[in-house]
Amino acid sequence: MVFSQPPFPAPPFLQRKSHLRTLALVFGIFVVCAGGVFYLLAKRGTAPEEEREKEWCPNPDAPSLGYATLNPGEKASSDYAEGWILPYKGFEESLMAISGVTLAMALEITNAIRDHIDFSKIYAGESLRIKFSPDRKMVEEFIYSPNFATFHTLTRDRTTGTLAYSYTRLPTETRYRIISGTLEGTLNASLAKRADVTTWIRQAVNNALEGMISFSTDARNGDEYRILVAEEFYRGNRLPGGKVLYAAYRGKVSGFREAFWYEDPNPDSAFNAHYTVEGKALASTGMRLPVDRIRVTSPFGIRIHPLTGRRQMHNGVDYAGAIGDPVYAVTTGTVTFAAPDGASGKKIVIRHLDGTLTYYLHLSAIGVKVGQTVKTGQIIGRVGSTGLSNGPHLHFGIFDKKQGWVNPVRIKMIAAPTLEGNRFERFKTQALEIHRILENTASGS
Ligand SMILES: [Zn+2]
Repeated sequence: MVFSQPPFPAPPFLQRKSHLRTLALVFGIFVVCAGGVFYLLAKRGTAPEEEREKEWCPNPDAPSLGYATLNPGEKASSDYAEGWILPYKGFEESLMAISGVTLAMALEITNAIRDHIDFSKIYAGESLRIKFSPDRKMVEEFIYSPNFATFHTLTRDRTTGTLAYSYTRLPTETRYRIISGTLEGTLNASLAKRADVTTWIRQAVNNALEGMISFSTDARNGDEYRILVAEEFYRGNRLPGGKVLYAAYRGKVSGFREAFWYEDPNPDSAFNAHYTVEGKALASTGMRLPVDRIRVTSPFGIRIHPLTGRRQMHNGVDYAGAIGDPVYAVTTGTVTFAAPDGASGKKIVIRHLDGTLTYYLHLSAIGVKVGQTVKTGQIIGRVGSTGLSNGPHLHFGIFDKKQGWVNPVRIKMIAAPTLEGNRFERFKTQALEIHRILENTASGS
């Protein structure tokens, strides 16, 4: 088989195995469902009341609508009204589709769970369950279950009267496998033919490698690939998603390329991504993420506004944050607005070289002036909760001259071009661990 002898060239820091092997690293068991890059970019036109197709991130691995009813940890379900995240619908609207759920209930649930889940990573088919009060005027319990081992629960607190959040994760087992083979046609087509490669893995591998290899010009039949995947299992059942820890490609034209998954202790860190062995980021747009923590508390698209209850277009994403967290210019440009602006609170607008505008709202502090030139990654302000806001967060918007408002989650942005300092040290340890797993995992091809 390809990739057998000699193995991939290891960089110097990976060759001192006897020392560093002891620095075994425990990877988090959270499944990072970061794949699913579907280009359903919103069309022209930006009027808030204009109906547009709702952005939808289908989970390619979800077996079918309603799979979560097979949930091994399920409570007696007769007390619960059941629903699912619906295709092309947001969280609130999926809730409203459940019989008996009012707008007030949907808003109460959404606002109570907002700080605990990433709304850019909800997928059609995931389970929603509600237990009503006997008079059905109130929600007593709500369970959002993205897979059969994970439960986000809201329970009515008798003393405060509010919905209290709790999280349950059933113990899962991490299994590793290597997927290797040679190219026939494109990488995407080669992977799509394989029964052992889920759609999610295929997308994640493409995302990891397309930053390093120009597939349209440099891929050749017979090029080789090798991928290390970590997947979670509960009682023998694979959870949707997974993590591509390593992806390597050896091509006649492209030469040898490899990418390692890096992870900060914070699962929401903007730095969690694939990097080359030198710690270089792979994304090629050169844009920096506007914050260091990238959990989306309110996604792009048509939504029910959390404060007004009105159904309207949300023309950006809300990132969770704390007051004072740095806000970065995503790329070089000129500040065209920097002042308080009604419901937007303290607001900055930057015009970039291609005419694209980026918007940063609800800031606690503005650190730039109109007319000032800013560079990629420069701190321009601080996260806040000014204007019409239900807590500290950054509303970030991108306005493209041709497309209008675009979903920022669909744009490839990175935290840093190169991992440095403590992060690079941690990366080296993690890369060593990945090499160790590669050596100890049987190859399937
Ligand atoms: Zn917003």
